Amino acid sequence: MRILLTGGTGYIGSHTAIALIEAGHQVTLLDNFSNSKPAVLDRLREITGVTMDFFEADVTDEDALDAVMADRSIDAVIHFAAPKAVGESIARPLHYFENGVGGTVKLLRAMDRHAVRNVVYSSSATVYGLSEDLPLTEDAPTSVINPYGRTKLMCEQILGDLFASDSSWNAIALRYFNPVGAHPSGLIGEDPQGVPANLVPFIAQVAVGRRPALTIFGDDYPTPDGTGVRDYIHVLDLAEGHVAAVEHLANKPGYDTINLGTGQGVSVREMVEAFERASGVAIPIEVAPRRPGDGPASWADATKAARVLGWTATRTLDQMTADVWRWQSHNPNGYD
Ligand code: NAD
Ligand code: UDP
Repeated sequence: MRILLTGGTGYIGSHTAIALIEAGHQVTLLDNFSNSKPAVLDRLREITGVTMDFFEADVTDEDALDAVMADRSIDAVIHFAAPKAVGESIARPLHYFENGVGGTVKLLRAMDRHAVRNVVYSSSATVYGLSEDLPLTEDAPTSVINPYGRTKLMCEQILGDLFASDSSWNAIALRYFNPVGAHPSGLIGEDPQGVPANLVPFIAQVAVGRRPALTIFGDDYPTPDGTGVRDYIHVLDLAEGHVAAVEHLANKPGYDTINLGTGQGVSVREMVEAFERASGVAIPIEVAPRRPGDGPASWADATKAARVLGWTATRTLDQMTADVWRWQSHNPNGYD
């Protein structure tokens, strides 16, 4: 298959491009570099030996989308492109709706014009809100706690409505839990701009000396060690989940939602310890009050992905932290 990856030079898109090529597919990447660097393309060539078919464009630009699809025979699209910072989404909701929702609508319209009606969508476990009914199954109630989460839930609903209107569409919304890790080559990885909002990139920057200490947001949760528990999944497992999902579109699944997680919860303190094992660096910590909007614990029921896609995460917590450390220590300032 030839698969178009919007947001293809981003963190998850770049790892998915590798997994797709390894599975024998061809990829076209589209990105506006709003949150990624052109250097990713050189790194991908180094890893895969393939020069990427790349298109610099904004996913809200219908003419550009038409141009990409007119020139190539695209079989399916994996739609990653969207801004993803919760705090920024509260400050700039229209930016999130314009790109996250508007960009998705423009993309689906362009796909329809070119009769490409197979799509895998990057959704998130954030659609479960603060549900404490663990593990989270796909039929758990959804709720929204910030504009970012609303963009994800709205796009899922748009895909459901689209399939209801025209059953030639096939769409799988993948609900990611907490993607971490990096390609084991150390050549690509997560490169957040500014202060990392997420735990693992923050720990990695402390370990490499860019930040003095990790602030743990709350150690008074009703969890075994008091710190927040999440389902961290290696980005290459996640990437392989996309390969399985895009291949499953050939079975004409209609519209479906599938969790991508490990099914295991890991606390903030356990993550810090794992990172110390991987790096050999002691991570200074400070404990601060809970971060607004955070719940105590979240992990997936990952059985539907195994049943429907034949996919299960296999990489361990120690592989996640070892791969992040290799990436961060070889590239202390990310791609810069
Ligand atoms: P990322 O920011 O690294 O990648 C997204 C890519 O999309 C970037 O390269 C960015 O430049 C590009 N992009 C953004 N807006 C664009 C636009 N309007 N036009 C063209 N390109 C645009 O993020 P990521 O972590 O790889 O996430 C990919 C997707 O997965 C996003 O939709 C995100 O919401 C979703 N997701 C991520 C996580 C996570 O923790 N990383 C969790 C759940 C869901
Ligand atoms: N966290 C933390 N310090 C940080 C960033 C995150 O203690 O600097 C905690 C956070 O409260 C949560 C866990 O780490 O319990 C994962 O947070 P992240 O932002 O990575 O993911 P999310 O909250 O979106 O699941």
